[in-house]
Amino acid sequence: MTAVLAIRDLSVAIRTDDGLAEVLDHATLEIARGEIVGVVGESGCGKSTLVRSVLGILPPAARVTEGSIRFDGVELTTLDARAMARDIRGRRIGFIPQDPYQAFNPVFRVGTQLLEVARWHGTGDQAADRARLIELLRQVQIPDPEGALARYPHQFSGGQRLRLRIAAAMLCRPDLIIADEPTTALDVTTQKQIIALLGALARESGTAMLFVTHDFGVVAELCDRVVVMYAGQTVECGASSVILDRPRHPYTRLLLDCHPDRAATLAGIPGSVPSVIAAPSGCRFHPRCPSASPVCSTALPPATVLGPDHEAACVLFGAGESHASA
Ligand code: SF4
Repeated sequence: MTAVLAIRDLSVAIRTDDGLAEVLDHATLEIARGEIVGVVGESGCGKSTLVRSVLGILPPAARVTEGSIRFDGVELTTLDARAMARDIRGRRIGFIPQDPYQAFNPVFRVGTQLLEVARWHGTGDQAADRARLIELLRQVQIPDPEGALARYPHQFSGGQRLRLRIAAAMLCRPDLIIADEPTTALDVTTQKQIIALLGALARESGTAMLFVTHDFGVVAELCDRVVVMYAGQTVECGASSVILDRPRHPYTRLLLDCHPDRAATLAGIPGSVPSVIAAPSGCRFHPRCPSASPVCSTALPPATVLGPDHEAACVLFGAGESHASA
């Protein structure tokens, strides 16, 4: 299938008092049209930096130092900020932010804020944009959609505010939606409802989705494929069923062992994700890896093809298996 988004060997560095710190180190990811891809990893693994790189909203101290982000044939790393804001972000790439509580300005009516998106990116026909928005509010199950436009953000629950953001992200019929851990602040029942809703909307509309999460349960329910990240590096990727049933990279295996549904251990992975300012050399997981050997600290292991839709970057798979870029 054609990739709507192809990230290749993306490195992002952030300026600190002690020099440049590499937040992403040759991260790689691909999403086909209509596909839902999960990006998984602990906090501090670079998931949000990856999202911000694609959306062109890296903080001023950060910059892309290497690699490419191609969106439907357009190279985003070199696209100027005005074109990014006018043609891509919000129009062809919808965004669902992490915190539905922070996603609205409390002093403006919801309708004013949602129709602002349409004014920027819509058809130019205000009545048509409003009608589409009301239809979307119906699809995301907001009661009384017309009345909802006249209400203020505090008059909606957290789950409803997230539904409103989903409608806003879908408004311009984007090719890709990026959702950055949108359900984290919600209770478990609402999380499940939102995940089911997002899956149904994406499948019905054929919109591709990049869904950032730290929860393999969400991956199992929602995602066709999954990319596992650790400390800014892509360590394993493949079909969700393959990764969930037969994870190969030591980090993925430990992450899955910690998931409450599997409950092999509730202790978590010993140690913590390293600070990017003092990231270990070579495979960044080596200080925590039970399978580490001296060679692991010397060079970034190349991605190795392990099956038809399965790759991992680890020296354990280097011999006798074909190498490929992840
Ligand atoms: Fe562990 Fe080495 Fe593989 Fe990294 S490369 S996951 S440290 S065995």
